[in-house]
Amino acid sequence: MTDYVFPPAATPALPVAHSDALFPVRRIYCVGRNYAAHAREMGKDPDREPPFFFSKPGDALAQDGATLPYPPQTEKLHFEAELVVAIGTGGADIPEAQALEHVFGYAIGNDLTRRDMQAVAKDMGRPWDLAKGFDRSAVCGTVHPVSAVGHPEQGPIRLMVNGETKQEGDLSEMIWSIPEVISILSQSVALAPGDLIYTGTPAGVGSLVPGDTCVVEIPALGELTTLIGPRG
Ligand code: MN
Repeated sequence: MTDYVFPPAATPALPVAHSDALFPVRRIYCVGRNYAAHAREMGKDPDREPPFFFSKPGDALAQDGATLPYPPQTEKLHFEAELVVAIGTGGADIPEAQALEHVFGYAIGNDLTRRDMQAVAKDMGRPWDLAKGFDRSAVCGTVHPVSAVGHPEQGPIRLMVNGETKQEGDLSEMIWSIPEVISILSQSVALAPGDLIYTGTPAGVGSLVPGDTCVVEIPALGELTTLIGPRG
């Protein structure tokens, strides 16, 4: 047995529908601006420029139903409802036609963002890492295996804050499809089992404050609930 100078961190993991086994999470990749209306609200032309990616640490994962302390260094904590692809089989340079064979399943995600910190980073040409990849910033629900839900290509994606609808889109409105996203990302990094890919958010992003209840709904996958606690 390997001797470590201190015990290694536990593997972040998600529940899997219809199973007692967990989905072990490795890396978390996110697509920026994958719905035209959201690109427009962020002041960008939604032309079909190649997609770009950012990432969050695997242990930024937060579970369904969790109460998350309001994060430090922001006055503008934003929600982003997203469909999450859970990779089951790794690969590099994956052809689009075979991309879906690499998917284990799908989950509902909330790509929490310190929007004010991101705006400063954009202005100064600095990385987004700490605006996007802070502790508990990657909210993700139960992973639904492809064997149970297939490959969701259309259907509503909604986000409610305290029962009021804030985001409402359709999965069919993605600028880059799931096979395209997998294929293009795999040209930059070799994907591995356990990787998650957040596929972008529809229009309507906005702020969360302490005491809010945020629910993301993709009917084929159920709901994802996040409670915002006091400042940590
Ligand atoms: Mn996002």
